[in-house]
Amino acid sequence: MVKDSLSLRTTNRVIASEAKQSNTGNGLLRRDAPRNDASRCHWVTKDQIYIDYHDHEWGKRVTDDNILFEFLILESFQAGLNWLTILKRRKGFARAFARFNARKVSKFTEKDIKRLLEDEGIIRHRGKIEAAVNNAAKFLEIQKSHGSFASYLEQYRPKRLRDAATLSANLAKDLKQRGFKFMGATTCYAYMQAVGLITEHSPECKLAKRNTAA
Ligand SMILES: [Zn+2]
Repeated sequence: MVKDSLSLRTTNRVIASEAKQSNTGNGLLRRDAPRNDASRCHWVTKDQIYIDYHDHEWGKRVTDDNILFEFLILESFQAGLNWLTILKRRKGFARAFARFNARKVSKFTEKDIKRLLEDEGIIRHRGKIEAAVNNAAKFLEIQKSHGSFASYLEQYRPKRLRDAATLSANLAKDLKQRGFKFMGATTCYAYMQAVGLITEHSPECKLAKRNTAA
């Protein structure tokens, strides 16, 4: 089992390539991208939107269910794409998906799906759009059974970084059993990083002191 954050990321990359979905999202380096000033994680490019995301959101604990749903949508659309591609469309996704109101999204009809398929502000992928509507309904079911999605997620918060990969696989398995789509283990790992269940900045990053205990 891998023990440090760098090898965990490498593992993710391997998992992604094995799945042939070239998942290059959170924490995964775009080799052709211009680097930031090296005081941040190596995967952060010079794009200000990415720097702001890294500095102010990534790895920080989220307890608001609306934001947890927002990242669930964004991460599910990221599979196979670069995270920066998704970040740049964040406002578009918010407009398209009822400001990430899970109840409203769960009621989307085929007419809404057709509208989204023509919306250039998002990723026009029918499977992912349908998954978002499906996942909204499943999200509401978890809120009902657990009080909130945030409290459901707490059981997957690793006490040590070395447990993170196992817990992300467990989360993916449970979500799959509950009927979620496009939330495999790699996506779940990225999601857990995004909402602060896992915090693992690179050793050279100025924010590495925030990391989850190793
Ligand atoms: Zn960092």
